[in-house]
Amino acid sequence: MSMEIKKGSAKFIRAYDKPEQIQKWWDSNPQAIGIAMVGRSNVGKSSLINTMFGAKTAKTSKTPGRTQKINIFTFEFMKDEQERLFYLYDLPGYGFAEVNKGMKKNWELLMGTFFEGLNGKTLLLNLQDARHPNQKTDQQFYDYINAKWIEIFLIFNKMDKLKKQKERAALNKLKPAIIKEYKHVKQIFFLSAQSKDGVEPLELAITSYCNKIWDAVVKPSLDDIEITER
Ligand code: GDP
Repeated sequence: MSMEIKKGSAKFIRAYDKPEQIQKWWDSNPQAIGIAMVGRSNVGKSSLINTMFGAKTAKTSKTPGRTQKINIFTFEFMKDEQERLFYLYDLPGYGFAEVNKGMKKNWELLMGTFFEGLNGKTLLLNLQDARHPNQKTDQQFYDYINAKWIEIFLIFNKMDKLKKQKERAALNKLKPAIIKEYKHVKQIFFLSAQSKDGVEPLELAITSYCNKIWDAVVKPSLDDIEITER
């Protein structure tokens, strides 16, 4: 049965900035299915969230690195004519220049707890800037999560800024190396959160992921079976 993101359904539910809050979240939501967005500050995470889930879901931040919180949203899919609830984790950006030591430490603790607690039912969307792909901080992030069990979609955003065919070709050429180097990357997308070009294939892939996990996790229970009186 087809499944699609219900636009405008995203609701902000929590902002956590303490590792123990995240730990508690995983402890009480071990079956939560969802997607998590991560990338350098200013790469366009909030813009992409807004494009996919409806305008103004996430506030687009103007000061890089200010949001040192994990923002949790719920969003809905329509499946079999019913609304299914999923989670969206907007993770704090990495690699900002003006980071101070205290903030860096906090980021590490918070993200450490988040990734330790991952339940195998969360898809990670890593955003990178199409004009500046695979930066040192992006590579460091992959080193950091390399040991974790996780499925990743790599997204090159701001494609609208690549005006020349040559620039696009250079980015495309990176593909084989990235797939070889980053074993968790399952799919690569090229898009623009601003113009919305290329967003649809990503939405379809997210839908397909959530559908797959939903079917694997949700086993029919007795409550779901309709008993007809004879
Ligand atoms: P975040 O820090 O990762 O959440 O990034 P934001 O979504 O706040 O975006 C940072 C800046 O990049 C904002 O000025 C956005 O308008 C801009 N931006 C985001 N996506 C795109 C895109 O696809 N194309 C262009 N040209 N600008 C974008």
